[in-house]
Amino acid sequence: MSVEAVDPAIVAADAPVPRFWQRLGLPGLADVHVHFLPPRLRRRVWEYFESAGPLVGLEWPVRYRWSDADRVAHLGRLGVRAFSALAYAHRPGMAEQLNRWTLDFARATPGCLPSATFFPEPEAARYVTEAIADGARVFKVHLQVGGFAPTDPALDEVWGLLADAGVPVVVHAGHAPVGTEHTGPDPFAALLARHPRLPAIVAHLGAPDYRAFFDLAQRYPHVRLDTTMAFTPFLDQLVPFPAAELPRLRELGLAGKVLLGSDFPNIPYPYADQLTGLARLDLGDDWLRAVCWQSAADLFGLTAS
Ligand SMILES: [Zn+2]
Repeated sequence: MSVEAVDPAIVAADAPVPRFWQRLGLPGLADVHVHFLPPRLRRRVWEYFESAGPLVGLEWPVRYRWSDADRVAHLGRLGVRAFSALAYAHRPGMAEQLNRWTLDFARATPGCLPSATFFPEPEAARYVTEAIADGARVFKVHLQVGGFAPTDPALDEVWGLLADAGVPVVVHAGHAPVGTEHTGPDPFAALLARHPRLPAIVAHLGAPDYRAFFDLAQRYPHVRLDTTMAFTPFLDQLVPFPAAELPRLRELGLAGKVLLGSDFPNIPYPYADQLTGLARLDLGDDWLRAVCWQSAADLFGLTAS
């Protein structure tokens, strides 16, 4: 599956995005959940999504199957001033190489937060230490794709390193779209019980177990959530958000605990859908400012310039 030319229809669909953050008086957007991958892995991930229709019960055509350069340029057009380059491993012996690639990518790409990952394997603590020394500012693990428990003893030292260094880790911890024995609130709660200071960012607001993950975010001062795919028509039909939790979402957002995430470019709809979905919640402009820029700016020390 090769890259495609930029689709003008998608560019047009995203054209309102700068007006969104300009109206809020923000310097731009900060998106903690963006993927950039080495070409071979990127092809495999796109193949997986595009064949995942039967798995998740929905068609999942990746809308931004463009070159890295075209996707970086598009983030620039949208005004995404800070973004991650999340990669993750599905087997041992992969993570260290991925880190080399994503850290190089960040060095060459203005606005990109140096990003890294790990896998339960004997070398993990060593290469995570090196990645942090090399400037990694955000990590990512995917408990469903990785197929490991967050409490795997091979990771105990790694979580401790991240907690000590205060480097956040985006964790795909929820059951959506396909649950395993290692996903859901319980394994994640067991991790936090061992590492209560871990600066974890729960991807997708923990969908579909929003309530239980909100409880954890309220209980642990360093646990945050990202909005990735939530409130888009696409995710709403899969795992709808319970209206009763909106007041808590507002509270958590105003407390700096909800961060904009998009899953760009692996999304089956235009980027603008993510922002429209957040705005439609009607939680107020202060909430949108916190979620779309300020909370990430505080966490990562971003400045308006
Ligand atoms: Zn993702």
